[in-house]
Amino acid sequence: MGDHPKTHCQKGHPLEAPNLVFNTAGNRECRQCRYKRVNANARATRLRERLKREYLRAQAAAAGGPGLPYARKESSQASALSCSGASASTAPG
Ligand SMILES: [Zn+2]
Repeated sequence: MGDHPKTHCQKGHPLEAPNLVFNTAGNRECRQCRYKRVNANARATRLRERLKREYLRAQAAAAGGPGLPYARKESSQASALSCSGASASTAPG
């Protein structure tokens, strides 16, 4: 028992070309099962990343709130100051 190589994977897929592949450890593996596993992994990783991004965005929104109006007001003030200063400095004496 255990000496002769398996002819089918745990799911019953035939362990022969083209369904037979070798993993990085050099072990025989069912291509269908591996594809399914890798696919599930990739999907889980993508979902986790998306949830993380949405969580971070929600955190930023909650912490900063609407930060745009404040920045806009400040910039308009600065532009007004620079405008008056420029007119004063360029006024002919
Ligand atoms: Zn399989």
